[in-house]
Amino acid sequence: MNDLLAMYRNGNYTVKLYSDGTKVKTTKYDEFDASFPDSMDLKITDYCDMNCPMCHEKSSINGKEGNLNEDFLFTLKSGTELAIGGGNPLSHSELIPFLTRMKEQGVICNLTVNEAHLKKDRKLIDELISKKLIFGLGVSIKAYNQYVIDFAKSYRNTVLHVINGIFEDYDKITDQELKVLILGYKMFGKGKTYYNDDVKKIKTHTKNILPSLLDKFDCISFDNLALEQLDVKSIISPEEYENMYMGDDGEATMYIDLVNREYAKSSTSTERFTLENDIIPMFRKIKNNRY
Ligand code: SF4
Repeated sequence: MNDLLAMYRNGNYTVKLYSDGTKVKTTKYDEFDASFPDSMDLKITDYCDMNCPMCHEKSSINGKEGNLNEDFLFTLKSGTELAIGGGNPLSHSELIPFLTRMKEQGVICNLTVNEAHLKKDRKLIDELISKKLIFGLGVSIKAYNQYVIDFAKSYRNTVLHVINGIFEDYDKITDQELKVLILGYKMFGKGKTYYNDDVKKIKTHTKNILPSLLDKFDCISFDNLALEQLDVKSIISPEEYENMYMGDDGEATMYIDLVNREYAKSSTSTERFTLENDIIPMFRKIKNNRY
């Protein structure tokens, strides 16, 4: 499990974060009751030059940057994890000053980039890692990519992000001690119009082969949408599921769109609220409206 990176109290439970990315939450109560988000998805820009046909954020070369000096960002608690994405987050002109400030605030920043941008902006990524401005790096891959695999082997906090229904080259990335996060296919943004028979076929195939994949990675994880789409609950024991499940969206997590100045339970929520200046009332609203 490696070194302890952060330990803090949130509501009625304690969170321990380890340097390999493992998060352990403990409480003496029956349920976890958070006062602020343990982790947040933060969209910082809508600019992206990849033009992916299933982009649920509809990012494009006309996309705008979000304001990284919004008041609520200064109220984030030490230990909170940010999953920073876009668009292409590497394109944001204020990225380094923002990450530097978050580090000083004790916020743990993780970044998600596209496989093409990893290669194109490798120098910048190496700088962010060497200065410890980011902790985890998610790299989205549509298909097998040897450059990304080699990178992931050299930087162990790399997590390969694959979309259920898009990625199908699982056999090429197994048994190499890689970390993989399977994301559910989002019927949102361009994902709604792109959805087709190929996506359906890959989703079905992935569901069928999933039991054989579980022990083939250093770590395999799922977002809540993928847990549902792949019915992960049916292929592991109830105890294992209970131990590993991090809670429903909005229980200790939330989504923030800095471009449109909105926040929501998750990136696919249609119910959105305008940004406020403090994370606590924002989170309270998400928690109270999550059903
Ligand atoms: S899916 Fe990601 S890489 Fe593709 S256009 Fe959208 S933001 Fe860019």
